[in-house]
Amino acid sequence: MNSDPAGAHLELRQAVREFATAVIKPLAPRTDHEHRYPREALDAAAELDLMGILIPPEYGGAGLDHLAFAICIEEIATACASTAVLVDVHNSVASEPILLFGSEGQKRAWLPRLARGEMLGAFALTEPSSGSDAASLKTSAKRYGEEFVLSGTKVFITGVGEAGMYLVFARTDPDQRGAAGVSCFIVPGDAPGLKVGQVFQKMGLNGSPTGELVLEEVREVNLQAFQQLHSYESKTEFLQRQVVSTEERYRNLFDQASEGIVIAEAQDLEILELNQTAKRLLGIAGADTNLLSSFCQIHPEPQPPPRSGPEGSLNPKL
Ligand SMILES: Cc1cc2nc3c(=O)[nH]c(=O)nc-3n(C[C@H](O)[C@H](O)[C@H](O)COP(=O)(O)OP(=O)(O)OC[C@H]3O[C@@H](n4cnc5c(N)ncnc54)[C@H](O)[C@@H]3O)c2cc1C
Repeated sequence: MNSDPAGAHLELRQAVREFATAVIKPLAPRTDHEHRYPREALDAAAELDLMGILIPPEYGGAGLDHLAFAICIEEIATACASTAVLVDVHNSVASEPILLFGSEGQKRAWLPRLARGEMLGAFALTEPSSGSDAASLKTSAKRYGEEFVLSGTKVFITGVGEAGMYLVFARTDPDQRGAAGVSCFIVPGDAPGLKVGQVFQKMGLNGSPTGELVLEEVREVNLQAFQQLHSYESKTEFLQRQVVSTEERYRNLFDQASEGIVIAEAQDLEILELNQTAKRLLGIAGADTNLLSSFCQIHPEPQPPPRSGPEGSLNPKL
């Protein structure tokens, strides 16, 4: 990619636009009319590293920033909204918490597979009686020695039935109120006791299944495959780090973009758009860090030993 950030983002937009127009758009009518899961579109997206946009190269992803992520989703969405929402959830809420809060073992076990598009990732937070007020969730995670047993019902889960991995939020401490008693679990899609409930008929996004995920005493003894996400730092430290890195990233971007606006007035209005998108993202990034830090708890368990050597592609194709 171009070494100039603004130019690199423009190049990326053009590349994803061409791909989405040529490959994803022709599949969109069937996806929508037949309520068909867009597997071919997702496989093609994976070939271009679009299923590992934010995942760093050492875990097999493209290692791009959040602005690049937003650009990719915008361009895919112009071709097919269903494909876009699946790619969005997979890259963001399903993959990023593992990157931010997972142990080294969890990252090595899951991120390369997610980045390759070997499996779809899903995010299971909402419950029938907890939507906006997510911290009131009731799904329970009871600990028996090294094992957790999860029971409850999630609802409105994007990619339900198609996902190979669900990030499931459950209450580990029934005595704590709100987010303080909640943890996040990596649950394989084929875990015994994990069932798909009702899949909803929607007014749009028909290729993206949305429905209930039922956990009937889901348990797993293989801790590599089923484990609490770990946070290495306190909520405050995490928020400080996020704010600083986000500010630095976007300050650089704003500087370059605002220099570009002079040229943009004459020739290239897309730089202005880039600037606006970055500002919008800055707000979104703040909201996201709040959500993630609220739900990912600090756990004292020892970290599993890291595997030797990096996995996956070190060569992002975009
Ligand atoms: C297509 C689709 C895909 C989804 N995918 C996922 C997914 O992959 N994973 C997942 O976990 N969830 C998913 N969701 C669920 C989504 O996150 C919830 O719908 C959302 O959190 C809102 O919850 P709710 O629908 O229960 O609405 P409610 O929380 O009941 O809110 C209803 C209305 O009341 C308003 N409201 C709520 N609280 C207040 C307040 N305190 N003050 C003022 N107004 C308030 C809301 O803004 C809203 O307009 C999906 C939803 C849809 C529609």
